[in-house]
Amino acid sequence: MIQRNTIQCSVILKKINELKAHVTADELYEAIVSEYPSISRATVYRNLNKLVEMGKIRKVSVPNGADRFDYLCCDHYHVKCRLCGQLFDVEMDYIADLKQRIKDAHGFEFFGHNIIFDGICPACGKTKIKENKK
Ligand SMILES: [Zn+2]
Ligand SMILES: [Zn+2]
Repeated sequence: MIQRNTIQCSVILKKINELKAHVTADELYEAIVSEYPSISRATVYRNLNKLVEMGKIRKVSVPNGADRFDYLCCDHYHVKCRLCGQLFDVEMDYIADLKQRIKDAHGFEFFGHNIIFDGICPACGKTKIKENKK
């Protein structure tokens, strides 16, 4: 049983790293089930959360959207495409002292932050230009 779980975990981890994307649990399940038809949706979900707890992957909460799972575990920011809803990594320095800067505001205890920029990805940008030309 323990071994079976480990295998499932590594299958999921391998898939996330292969896709190099920010997938939802459903997208990941679809990608895995085509290769491993016996795996259940619940198993994928359970193992995803386990991998997050283990620090192997990260869960990114997306406003107005499903949680996405990130193969990159270092601190980084994201941009969400307005049109396709996909999440992309943003290349910029992580503002490590952001938490310190806001420490004393309103007596809150801060644990972290989650910045998601808003934009349109190059692929959707191209389609948009084409549509405008019609
Ligand atoms: Zn897009
Ligand atoms: Zn990311």
